[in-house]
Amino acid sequence: MHLSDHSLDQLDEAYVQTLDEGALRGLSLRLLEDLKEARERLRQNPNNSSRPPSSRAPWERPSAGDEEMIETADADALTAMQDDELPDEATLPPADSSGTPETPAHAGRATAKPKRQAGKQPGAPGFGRTQVFTAQETLHHRPSACAACAAALPGDAPSVGYAGFQSVDLVWGNPEQPGLHLRVTDHRFYDSLCGCGHHTRARPGEGLVDDPTLEPVALSEWRLVGPGLATLIVALHLRFRLSYRRIREFLHDWLGLSLSVGTLDRTLREAAAAALPLEQELIAAVVASDLLHADETSWPQGADLLWLWVFTSATVTLFVVAKRGREVLDRILPGFAGWLMSDGWQAYRHLPHRLRCWAHLTRKAQGLIESFDREGQAFGHQVQTTFDTLMGAIHAARAGPPADLPRIHAPLLAELHAACVHLLGHRHAKTRALAVELWNDWDAIFRVLENPQWPLTNNEAERALRHWVIARRIMMGTRCDAGSRTFTLLASVIETCRKRGHVPWLYLASVITERRAGRAAAPLPTLVPGL
Ligand SMILES: [Zn+2]
Repeated sequence: MHLSDHSLDQLDEAYVQTLDEGALRGLSLRLLEDLKEARERLRQNPNNSSRPPSSRAPWERPSAGDEEMIETADADALTAMQDDELPDEATLPPADSSGTPETPAHAGRATAKPKRQAGKQPGAPGFGRTQVFTAQETLHHRPSACAACAAALPGDAPSVGYAGFQSVDLVWGNPEQPGLHLRVTDHRFYDSLCGCGHHTRARPGEGLVDDPTLEPVALSEWRLVGPGLATLIVALHLRFRLSYRRIREFLHDWLGLSLSVGTLDRTLREAAAAALPLEQELIAAVVASDLLHADETSWPQGADLLWLWVFTSATVTLFVVAKRGREVLDRILPGFAGWLMSDGWQAYRHLPHRLRCWAHLTRKAQGLIESFDREGQAFGHQVQTTFDTLMGAIHAARAGPPADLPRIHAPLLAELHAACVHLLGHRHAKTRALAVELWNDWDAIFRVLENPQWPLTNNEAERALRHWVIARRIMMGTRCDAGSRTFTLLASVIETCRKRGHVPWLYLASVITERRAGRAAAPLPTLVPGL
């Protein structure tokens, strides 16, 4: 949108008559584009677009009785400016709760909407923000060009401040000056008068979130929590596994900052919304992997028991919360032509180019050795000995000259294969199960003999999940699709940066900065050479 309500409000016949032809053409084109965009938006509804009813932005929803929205609203949204694009009515406390009369309407603007001064109303119960900071810096945001006639606005054009907010951001520690520092900035936004008589307002940047699975979340520069501080909150929650309650405690006790749980939650969601465009890049890197490890562990989401999947290679780690079925593989892996290391679970079986983790199989063999079934014990020993011999040969081949392992060990493999076939119908369940598993997945299990450089275990994937297995107890899983997506998107970006040898936080802060300003995020950092 080129023209804000503030600008449209001023456009009338008298103004249009004053413009020369060039300015008129420019204005017409901007109006035409805005009109088309508005028509498209008018036609858009949950029936003809990807937007579910819940994807409506908070300020598009009715405000009456929206208690939860008010309780969890970001402190900074509560001080939102008048401009209609910004969250104001829906997130402001109800007018009658302030106990004070409304401030007089904005002079010279006759609309039916009651006008308030920007910022918290006098006497209003300051939801969320209870702190007043002393700013180290004041940034003055002035419009650079007239919204109506498009003429450049000089720095000394007559301007009035019409709104402002404070942001708190992190100053990154450096070895010369260690420490965690916060910096408070006062942002002032101005309404500047053009020679043509039009008032144009500078507006904070806004980014687009186009995904129905992330709940209404807005990307905006109008935030108390700056990008660096947002990244610290992401790190405390997802890397250091602190609950929101502990993060509040940390920020309060160590940094002198009081943030509500609602603000922390919204900060996490906004960071994920900022990282959203990176998802395609992550999936593309997974699909391009020569060797991929996949694994899954249970993950509670609300009342549902879902699965946390991980796909990890030398340069990427992707997490997904989904049902335990083929769907997620069908969604992520089409086009994948590399080798896939996994456990023996059914959903992986249809994929070509599979490798199997030997650790799982030798553990099962050990179980048989410790069982009370004589034949089972003998089979356990046979499996164990075979794998020990082959492992020794693989390690030797890795270090030494290449060897034709499948041919050299063909007799040993034939013996094991015969034993498996013999035991396929065995009465002892565990013996039968291991024989069936080996027989069923024979090629995938012993394929590693063709290339001893391939891994013998799925440790890479299991390690990638371990952190979240611990986090699962603290976070108690996630509550909804949006929460799961927030967590997996951010976890994937963090782990991929680490895998590529980069500190994730500076990168994530830049992603938030760019996307809040309505610009594209930089691509994920590439692998540090020699890592
Ligand atoms: Zn103008």
